[in-house]
Amino acid sequence: MSAQLTEKIRKLKAERNAVILAHNYQTGDIQDLADFTGDSLELSRKASQTDADVIVFCGVRFMAETAAILAPEKIVLLPDKHAGCPLADMITAEQLRDLKRKHPAALVVCYVNSSAEVKAQSDYCCTSANAAEIVEGLPEDKEIIFVPDQHLGRFVGEKTGRNLILWPGYCVTHAAITQDDIKKAKTAFPDAVVMAHPECTEPVKEICDQILSTGQMLKFARQSEARRFIVATETGIIHSLKKQNPGKEFFAASERAVCPNMKRITMEKVLWSLEDMQYQIKVPEPVRTRAKTALDRMVAILPAK
Ligand code: SF4
Repeated sequence: MSAQLTEKIRKLKAERNAVILAHNYQTGDIQDLADFTGDSLELSRKASQTDADVIVFCGVRFMAETAAILAPEKIVLLPDKHAGCPLADMITAEQLRDLKRKHPAALVVCYVNSSAEVKAQSDYCCTSANAAEIVEGLPEDKEIIFVPDQHLGRFVGEKTGRNLILWPGYCVTHAAITQDDIKKAKTAFPDAVVMAHPECTEPVKEICDQILSTGQMLKFARQSEARRFIVATETGIIHSLKKQNPGKEFFAASERAVCPNMKRITMEKVLWSLEDMQYQIKVPEPVRTRAKTALDRMVAILPAK
């Protein structure tokens, strides 16, 4: 059944001249099906560079919106229209406008996990892979508002020495990973390297060995001499980690770290999406052009090696 489904999707994908992009948090079958799997920064670059006519985005709404902003001439499909991101929903454009009124001289950096309207109100966009580089590049005499993820913001503030004005947003999936989970995993696997995503809470990051975006985790695991890794992020990434490193072992810091929105995308929905050309994600032109300025800066800046 699964092989038949894959075959049908591949056939239709060729007919539509479509490309399938999948985030590292997707299920293993979707990651295997995709033409490209990566983190938000890598997927944004792919979306802006592809010559396909259709982009099927296996991820959540803000990612498909990002693709639609960067590649307005393409048809961008999100296979489940309800795949949202609770973190992105924690700030509205109106709330950001209020914050800007309180700090009229501040520059605004928004995490890519935000709506198109919030991006349109921002000067710079960033991902967890290049947030520190973006902030470091800003004039030292400027106040900086960082939205919506407080944990990523605090990490960037510490890394760059900048005093950021933070918004109290957070990812519910990463917040489910506790310091106790890390301590238990370290007791079970004392030789393992602990990799944590910057969206994790501060007590988790305090006792981990590496703080990395998902793309950086994949690179680190490939290059590291270590044989065992404890992974503190959404569990979907373990599929790619294992696939790329057959001789190494990877353990989820918490089995609770599963994003229900990411997991809304299934093989069947990808097929239906291509059959019916749904759900098309469009961003109104005035919002798109303003948001694109912030996104272009994000896509241009590479994270430090
Ligand atoms: S893992 Fe967190 S930040 Fe990522 S899509 Fe899910 S809720 Fe949003």
